[in-house]
Order: sequence, then structure tokens, then C-alpha cells
Amino acid sequence: MAKLYYRYGTMQSNKSNQIITTHHQYTTQGKQCLAYSTPIDTRSGFKKIRSRVGLELVCEYIHEHIYDEVREINETARVHAVVVDEAQFLSRKDIHNLSDIADYLDIPVICFGLKTDFRGELFEGSKVLLELSDAIDELKTICQFCNKKATMNMRMLDGEPINVGETIQMGDEEYVPVCRKCYKARLELVK
Ligand SMILES: [Zn+2]
Repeated sequence: MAKLYYRYGTMQSNKSNQIITTHHQYTTQGKQCLAYSTPIDTRSGFKKIRSRVGLELVCEYIHEHIYDEVREINETARVHAVVVDEAQFLSRKDIHNLSDIADYLDIPVICFGLKTDFRGELFEGSKVLLELSDAIDELKTICQFCNKKATMNMRMLDGEPINVGETIQMGDEEYVPVCRKCYKARLELVK
């Protein structure tokens, strides 16, 4: 049975590079891999996934009929995998549809996303993926301020950390990956 995967990390945890590499591994073996993202984040350009090291992948956007779309493509030419970027922005319904692709079409679905927002709270898409995925991996990176593993995203505004504002803020130059202790220290949440 195909699995639903969730590979989560903080900002700068190499997610886009990994999704592009995964896609490349399938296609170089002559296997069809469909790439999707969400229309919420268009920093990389319209229907594009772009990594920090300059790799780029054309994608489609997840929509409410994603299951039927993949089923129809798979009937014409076998689909070997589906990769999804920015999965934190997906709805519960979107993720149920993706799980149906794994369960009923027997196609692995590999989702990449941010676990938590800059308040340290789960994104809706991440919450559902943590609930439903068969396999969950953490993509690791290092805290901006010390040498520990980063687990949180700190939002910076004019060089100062803040934890207020809209949940969905674009422009990852505004965010730095930090460990929990540095997050508390920088936001003066230390007891
Ligand atoms: Zn730290």
C-alpha cells in the first residue's frame, strides 16, 4: 500500500531542494512524478517551486478536485509519485484528498511543509498531516543564534523579532530558524 508522507521542518531546512531532488529522482528513472504547491505562496513565481541553491521546478496548484485529476492522469500514464510543497497551507479536506490518492490509487504522496508558524503554533495543514501521515520525517537545520537544532521560526521585522501579526506572512527573508531557548530569549519570554 502506498503511503502518505510528511517531511516537515523550519525555514531554511532545505525543503524546496529536497522536493525538487525527489522529483528529479523519479523522472530520471522515467517515472512520472506530479508536483504540486499551494497558490498562497507565490514567492517562487507563478506555479514554481524554487530552492535556495537556484533549482526550479514547475508545479500545479492543489485544488478541490485533486483526487480526480490524479486519477485521470494515472489512467493515461502511470503516476509513480505525487510531491506537494507548502503543505502547511492545505486544508483538512485537501489532505484527506491526498490520503485518498495513496489509499485508492496506490500512489505515494510526499508532502513538505513548515510545522509551526512564528507563534510556535501548528499550521492547520501540518496538524492534519501529523494526524494522518504514515511516515513523518523532520528536516533538520541549525539555530541562527546557537548550535542547537532549530525547531521554531522567528519572524523578524526591521531586524527585531516579533510574534504578532497575521499567521501567513510571506518572504522567508523575514524569518529565521531558531531553537526554543533562543526563541524565548529573543522574544523575552524567559521566566
Ligand atoms: Zn538557539
